[in-house]
Amino acid sequence: MLRVIHLSAGYGALRAVDGVSVSARAGEVVALLGANGAGKSTLLRAIAGLLRPWDGRVLVGGRNLAGWPAHRIAAAGLSLVPEGRGLFPGMSVRDNLRLGGFARRGSARELEERIDEMAGVFPALAERWDIPAAHLSGGQQQMLALARALVARPRVLLLDEPSTGLAPLVAGEILARIRRLKADGLAVILAEQNTRAALQAADRAYVLATGRVIFDGTVAELRASEAIARAYLGSE
Ligand code: ATP
Repeated sequence: MLRVIHLSAGYGALRAVDGVSVSARAGEVVALLGANGAGKSTLLRAIAGLLRPWDGRVLVGGRNLAGWPAHRIAAAGLSLVPEGRGLFPGMSVRDNLRLGGFARRGSARELEERIDEMAGVFPALAERWDIPAAHLSGGQQQMLALARALVARPRVLLLDEPSTGLAPLVAGEILARIRRLKADGLAVILAEQNTRAALQAADRAYVLATGRVIFDGTVAELRASEAIARAYLGSE
Protein backbone atom coordinates (compact mmCIF):
# COMPACT_ATOMS: atom_id res chain seq x y z
CA MET A 1 0.00 0.00 0.00
CA LEU A 2 2.76 2.45 1.03
CA ARG A 3 6.31 2.08 -0.28
CA VAL A 4 8.84 4.75 0.46
CA ILE A 5 12.01 4.28 -1.52
CA HIS A 6 15.30 5.95 -0.72
CA LEU A 7 13.75 9.14 0.62
CA SER A 8 15.94 12.03 1.71
CA ALA A 9 14.82 15.30 3.26
CA GLY A 10 16.11 17.96 5.60
CA TYR A 11 16.49 21.58 6.51
CA GLY A 12 19.08 23.85 4.89
CA ALA A 13 22.34 21.90 4.94
CA LEU A 14 21.03 19.29 7.42
CA ARG A 15 20.10 15.97 5.82
CA ALA A 16 17.73 14.78 8.59
CA VAL A 17 16.47 11.79 6.56
CA ASP A 18 19.10 10.07 4.47
CA GLY A 19 17.99 7.53 1.86
CA VAL A 20 15.28 5.86 3.95
CA SER A 21 13.15 3.02 2.58
CA VAL A 22 10.10 1.87 4.54
CA SER A 23 6.83 0.19 3.64
CA ALA A 24 3.48 -0.75 5.12
CA ARG A 25 0.95 -3.18 3.69
CA ALA A 26 -2.83 -2.89 3.98
CA GLY A 27 -3.84 -4.13 7.44
CA GLU A 28 -0.37 -3.69 8.86
CA VAL A 29 0.87 -1.45 11.68
CA VAL A 30 4.54 -0.62 11.33
CA ALA A 31 6.43 1.08 14.16
CA LEU A 32 8.99 3.75 13.39
CA LEU A 33 11.31 3.97 16.38
CA GLY A 34 14.32 6.03 17.28
CA ALA A 35 15.64 8.53 19.76
CA ASN A 36 14.73 12.18 19.90
CA GLY A 37 16.05 13.82 16.73
CA ALA A 38 16.52 10.57 14.79
CA GLY A 39 14.41 11.90 11.91
CA LYS A 40 11.03 10.25 12.50
CA SER A 41 8.95 13.43 12.21
CA THR A 42 10.95 14.65 9.25
CA LEU A 43 10.34 11.36 7.45
CA LEU A 44 6.58 11.46 8.10
CA ARG A 45 6.36 15.11 7.08
CA ALA A 46 8.26 14.41 3.86
CA ILE A 47 5.99 11.45 3.06
CA ALA A 48 2.88 13.57 3.67
CA GLY A 49 4.17 16.46 1.55
CA LEU A 50 4.50 18.96 4.41
CA LEU A 51 8.20 19.04 3.65
CA ARG A 52 9.47 18.65 0.11
CA PRO A 53 11.59 15.51 -0.25
CA TRP A 54 15.06 16.05 -1.69
CA ASP A 55 15.15 12.67 -3.32
CA GLY A 56 13.31 9.35 -3.45
CA ARG A 57 9.84 8.02 -4.11
CA VAL A 58 6.61 7.75 -2.11
CA LEU A 59 4.40 5.12 -3.70
CA VAL A 60 0.77 4.78 -2.62
CA GLY A 61 -1.08 2.11 -4.53
CA GLY A 62 1.75 2.19 -7.08
CA ARG A 63 1.55 5.95 -7.77
CA ASN A 64 4.56 8.13 -6.92
CA LEU A 65 3.37 11.07 -4.80
CA ALA A 66 6.82 12.44 -3.89
CA GLY A 67 6.92 16.20 -4.41
CA TRP A 68 3.14 16.59 -4.56
CA PRO A 69 1.61 19.29 -2.35
CA ALA A 70 0.18 18.04 0.95
CA HIS A 71 -3.49 18.55 0.01
CA ARG A 72 -3.13 16.39 -3.10
CA ILE A 73 -1.36 13.68 -1.14
CA ALA A 74 -4.22 13.77 1.39
CA ALA A 75 -6.74 13.50 -1.44
CA ALA A 76 -4.81 10.49 -2.77
CA GLY A 77 -5.56 8.66 0.49
CA LEU A 78 -2.69 9.44 2.87
CA SER A 79 -3.42 11.15 6.21
CA LEU A 80 -0.96 12.36 8.84
CA VAL A 81 -1.78 12.90 12.49
CA PRO A 82 1.01 15.32 13.36
CA GLU A 83 3.03 15.53 16.55
CA GLY A 84 1.08 17.80 18.91
CA ARG A 85 -2.14 16.71 17.14
CA GLY A 86 -2.71 19.89 15.11
CA LEU A 87 -6.22 20.51 16.40
CA PHE A 88 -7.98 23.87 16.35
CA PRO A 89 -8.49 24.33 20.09
CA GLY A 90 -11.21 26.99 19.91
CA MET A 91 -13.32 25.04 17.44
CA SER A 92 -15.86 22.40 18.38
CA VAL A 93 -15.18 18.69 18.11
CA ARG A 94 -17.54 18.47 15.14
CA ASP A 95 -15.91 21.40 13.32
CA ASN A 96 -12.46 19.89 13.84
CA LEU A 97 -13.79 16.72 12.22
CA ARG A 98 -15.23 18.70 9.30
CA LEU A 99 -11.76 20.07 8.60
CA GLY A 100 -10.52 16.50 8.26
CA GLY A 101 -12.64 16.13 5.16
CA PHE A 102 -11.48 19.24 3.37
CA ALA A 103 -9.15 17.51 0.93
CA ARG A 104 -11.51 14.65 0.32
CA ARG A 105 -13.54 14.24 -2.80
CA GLY A 106 -17.27 13.68 -2.31
CA SER A 107 -20.38 15.63 -1.40
CA ALA A 108 -20.96 17.67 1.76
CA ARG A 109 -23.64 15.14 2.72
CA GLU A 110 -21.19 12.26 2.49
CA LEU A 111 -18.81 14.19 4.71
CA GLU A 112 -21.53 14.73 7.35
CA GLU A 113 -22.40 11.02 7.18
CA ARG A 114 -18.77 10.09 7.67
CA ILE A 115 -18.55 12.47 10.66
CA ASP A 116 -21.68 10.88 12.15
CA GLU A 117 -20.03 7.47 11.69
CA MET A 118 -17.14 8.72 13.80
CA ALA A 119 -19.60 9.30 16.66
CA GLY A 120 -20.18 5.53 16.67
CA VAL A 121 -16.48 4.73 16.50
CA PHE A 122 -15.50 7.25 19.19
CA PRO A 123 -18.45 7.49 21.63
CA ALA A 124 -16.46 9.64 24.07
CA LEU A 125 -16.21 12.30 21.38
CA ALA A 126 -19.89 12.05 20.45
CA GLU A 127 -20.80 13.08 23.99
CA ARG A 128 -18.70 16.21 23.53
CA TRP A 129 -19.66 17.08 19.95
CA ASP A 130 -20.24 20.79 20.47
CA ILE A 131 -17.59 21.71 22.98
CA PRO A 132 -14.23 23.27 21.99
CA ALA A 133 -11.40 20.82 21.40
CA ALA A 134 -9.37 22.66 24.06
CA HIS A 135 -11.80 21.41 26.73
CA LEU A 136 -11.11 17.74 25.95
CA SER A 137 -8.66 15.68 27.99
CA GLY A 138 -5.31 14.80 26.36
CA GLY A 139 -6.53 11.32 25.47
CA GLN A 140 -9.75 12.65 23.98
CA GLN A 141 -7.78 15.19 21.95
CA GLN A 142 -5.64 12.39 20.54
CA MET A 143 -8.83 10.43 19.71
CA LEU A 144 -10.15 13.54 17.96
CA ALA A 145 -6.93 13.91 15.95
CA LEU A 146 -7.24 10.26 14.93
CA ALA A 147 -10.93 10.60 14.09
CA ARG A 148 -10.21 13.70 12.04
CA ALA A 149 -7.64 11.80 9.97
CA LEU A 150 -10.12 8.94 9.47
CA VAL A 151 -12.85 11.26 8.20
CA ALA A 152 -10.91 11.47 4.95
CA ARG A 153 -11.13 7.65 4.59
CA PRO A 154 -7.38 7.26 4.12
CA ARG A 155 -5.72 4.08 2.90
CA VAL A 156 -2.47 5.04 4.59
CA LEU A 157 -2.28 6.63 8.03
CA LEU A 158 0.87 8.18 9.51
CA LEU A 159 0.84 8.80 13.26
CA ASP A 160 3.51 10.97 14.88
CA GLU A 161 3.97 10.20 18.59
CA PRO A 162 0.30 9.63 19.46
CA SER A 163 1.11 8.55 23.03
CA THR A 164 3.19 11.60 23.98
CA GLY A 165 1.98 13.37 27.09
CA LEU A 166 -0.63 10.74 27.93
CA ALA A 167 -0.85 8.64 31.07
CA PRO A 168 0.12 5.00 30.37
CA LEU A 169 -3.46 3.75 30.65
CA VAL A 170 -4.74 6.37 28.20
CA ALA A 171 -1.81 5.77 25.83
CA GLY A 172 -2.72 2.07 25.94
CA GLU A 173 -6.30 2.87 24.90
CA ILE A 174 -5.06 4.93 21.95
CA LEU A 175 -2.72 2.15 20.85
CA ALA A 176 -5.50 -0.43 21.14
CA ARG A 177 -7.64 1.77 18.92
CA ILE A 178 -4.78 2.06 16.41
CA ARG A 179 -4.44 -1.72 16.38
CA ARG A 180 -8.10 -2.05 15.48
CA LEU A 181 -7.52 -0.01 12.31
CA LYS A 182 -5.83 -3.09 10.90
CA ALA A 183 -9.21 -4.74 10.47
CA ASP A 184 -10.27 -1.86 8.22
CA GLY A 185 -7.32 -2.59 5.94
CA LEU A 186 -5.39 0.59 6.66
CA ALA A 187 -1.63 0.69 6.29
CA VAL A 188 -0.34 2.44 9.42
CA ILE A 189 3.06 3.90 10.24
CA LEU A 190 3.36 4.66 13.93
CA ALA A 191 6.29 6.86 14.97
CA GLU A 192 6.99 6.58 18.68
CA GLN A 193 9.71 7.30 21.19
CA ASN A 194 7.67 5.14 23.54
CA THR A 195 9.04 1.90 22.13
CA ARG A 196 7.27 -0.46 24.49
CA ALA A 197 3.87 1.05 23.75
CA ALA A 198 4.48 1.07 20.00
CA LEU A 199 5.52 -2.57 19.93
CA GLN A 200 2.22 -3.58 21.54
CA ALA A 201 0.41 -2.30 18.47
CA ALA A 202 2.94 -3.05 15.72
CA ASP A 203 3.57 -6.03 13.45
CA ARG A 204 6.97 -4.84 12.24
CA ALA A 205 9.40 -2.10 13.16
CA TYR A 206 12.05 0.15 11.73
CA VAL A 207 14.60 1.87 13.92
CA LEU A 208 16.03 5.18 12.72
CA ALA A 209 19.28 6.72 13.94
CA THR A 210 20.64 9.98 12.55
CA GLY A 211 18.34 9.79 9.57
CA ARG A 212 19.07 6.20 8.52
CA VAL A 213 17.35 2.86 9.03
CA ILE A 214 19.54 0.79 11.36
CA PHE A 215 17.05 -2.02 11.95
CA ASP A 216 14.20 -3.45 9.91
CA GLY A 217 12.34 -6.56 11.02
CA THR A 218 9.46 -8.11 12.92
CA VAL A 219 8.72 -7.15 16.50
CA ALA A 220 9.99 -10.58 17.62
CA GLU A 221 13.27 -10.02 15.73
CA LEU A 222 13.63 -6.60 17.30
CA ARG A 223 13.15 -8.04 20.78
CA ALA A 224 15.69 -10.75 19.96
CA SER A 225 18.32 -8.33 18.69
CA GLU A 226 20.24 -7.64 21.86
CA ALA A 227 22.09 -4.48 20.89
CA ILE A 228 19.00 -2.82 19.47
CA ALA A 229 16.87 -4.03 22.35
CA ARG A 230 19.34 -2.59 24.87
CA ALA A 231 19.44 0.75 23.09
CA TYR A 232 15.73 1.09 22.36
CA LEU A 233 13.78 -1.16 24.70
CA GLY A 234 15.54 -0.42 27.98
CA SER A 235 17.29 -2.99 30.17
CA GLU A 236 14.34 -5.34 30.85
P1 ATP B 1 11.32 13.95 17.88
O1 ATP B 1 10.80 12.73 18.48
O2 ATP B 1 12.03 14.85 18.84
O3 ATP B 1 10.35 14.67 17.00
P2 ATP B 1 12.41 12.90 15.48
O4 ATP B 1 13.00 11.55 15.40
O5 ATP B 1 11.04 13.06 14.98
O6 ATP B 1 12.52 13.43 16.95
P3 ATP B 1 13.07 15.07 13.76
O7 ATP B 1 12.13 16.01 14.47
O8 ATP B 1 12.67 14.57 12.44
O9 ATP B 1 13.41 13.85 14.70
O10 ATP B 1 14.47 15.78 13.67
C1 ATP B 1 15.56 15.28 12.88
C2 ATP B 1 16.66 16.31 12.83
O11 ATP B 1 16.21 17.46 12.13
C3 ATP B 1 17.12 16.80 14.19
O12 ATP B 1 18.50 17.02 14.11
C4 ATP B 1 16.39 18.11 14.36
O13 ATP B 1 17.12 19.00 15.18
C5 ATP B 1 16.30 18.62 12.94
N1 ATP B 1 15.09 19.45 12.69
C6 ATP B 1 13.83 19.08 12.92
N2 ATP B 1 12.96 20.05 12.55
C7 ATP B 1 13.73 21.07 12.07
C8 ATP B 1 13.45 22.38 11.54
N3 ATP B 1 12.20 22.81 11.39
N4 ATP B 1 14.50 23.14 11.17
C9 ATP B 1 15.77 22.69 11.30
N5 ATP B 1 16.11 21.49 11.79
C10 ATP B 1 15.12 20.69 12.18
